[in-house]
Amino acid sequence: TEASARERLDGVYAEVVRRNPAEPEFHQAAREVLETLAPVLAARPELADAALIERICEPERQVLFRVPWTDDSGRVRVNRGFRVEFNSALGPYKGGLRFHPSVNLGIVKFLGFEQIFKNALTGLGIGGGKGGSDFDPRGRSDAEVMRFCQSFMTELYRHIGDRTDVPAGDIGVGGREIGYLFGQYRRITNRWEAGVLTGKGLGWGGSAGRVEATGYGNVLFAAEMLRRRGEDLPGQQVLVSGSGNVALYTVEKLRELGARAITVSDSAGYVVDDKGIDLELLKQIKEVERGRVRDYAERRGGSAVFVPGGSVWEVPADVALPSATQNELDAADALALVRGGVKAVSEGANMPVTPAAANVLRDAGVAFGPGKAANAGGVAVSALEMRQNSGRESWTRQRVESELATVMREIHDLCWQTAEQYGVPGDYVTGANIAGFERVAEAMLAQGVV
Ligand code: GLU
Repeated sequence: TEASARERLDGVYAEVVRRNPAEPEFHQAAREVLETLAPVLAARPELADAALIERICEPERQVLFRVPWTDDSGRVRVNRGFRVEFNSALGPYKGGLRFHPSVNLGIVKFLGFEQIFKNALTGLGIGGGKGGSDFDPRGRSDAEVMRFCQSFMTELYRHIGDRTDVPAGDIGVGGREIGYLFGQYRRITNRWEAGVLTGKGLGWGGSAGRVEATGYGNVLFAAEMLRRRGEDLPGQQVLVSGSGNVALYTVEKLRELGARAITVSDSAGYVVDDKGIDLELLKQIKEVERGRVRDYAERRGGSAVFVPGGSVWEVPADVALPSATQNELDAADALALVRGGVKAVSEGANMPVTPAAANVLRDAGVAFGPGKAANAGGVAVSALEMRQNSGRESWTRQRVESELATVMREIHDLCWQTAEQYGVPGDYVTGANIAGFERVAEAMLAQGVV
């Protein structure tokens, strides 16, 4: 029954907490999934068997390593590297690398755990993993970043491979870092193995449309959610947080589809621009100069204001697309959004909305797209990059974009239908968790106790 399933899941959660002390983000991510699985365990007893759920909560392998490197002044520095290979029932481990001072094992586990279900939802044959380092790339020269990446790969290379584990970017890891990592992998292994990393440059095995994919995909997902409510994206005022890769291409796709992004942010504050964010100026500042959103407000003049320290969620708007980082939107922010008339919230970042905030949105009848579903476009195009690499092909941007649109629509519809089937219509969180869990658990069941 559902009650006994719930009791079992509470026990699994208690065990996750016991086994992984002091990892609050991992506990949060695990709880959010476990809380929604009772209906599927009750309806499909075979998936309640063989400790499937207990096994899913335990990473298959966790790698921790020292990353020594020399800074420009000749001083030797030490960082910590991580790769958590969480689940490979559906394909090689797949997931990004995050370089940020906040990275620790618990953060990497939360991200890796989310990645299992996200990757399952894409239907593209990829398992779940995540990695990174507490290295802070901000303020570091290109030469320092290169030496760091080379040292990081000098350990990581033995754990990855195009059939084994395929890292990509995340916060702090973009095209530059993937280039340095790939160069070192190629040098150490003496193999030109394109499919070992995704997010590569266009001229050396990268895919058209990969840079844009996460942001574009989230906008497509939000548009589908609005359509189900009889609404339309064009003309909507949209809050975007963050100013990294996801935020930038969210702004771009919104403009293309006739909606208006009016905010972006970073750790120092946010910009609100009534005329809509000027994408060319923002790209110049962020991608070319590696600058801050304060510079955007200064150069844009007139319509843009920089609000130091504030939160974008205090600005009234129709749609909110949190695209910065975990737990950036709390219950008070959610209340402010509801007061401002928000109709849909969709997660461009991983777990940006706190559980309490998600409850506020649900109770207020706001459509909520969880990151596992909504931001799966990035890893989906990574899987398309792997496909191109294995066939030594290079697809057009048009082809990649149309496959991305199909994948996002299929993910949306799968979550919608699964929610309906399990008696919680419109609940994308439950729909995404159950649909992702079913795919992973079915594969594990068929593959035996491994
Ligand atoms: N870091 C991205 C994510 O959170 C992309 C991972 C990938 O492309 O492997 O899904």
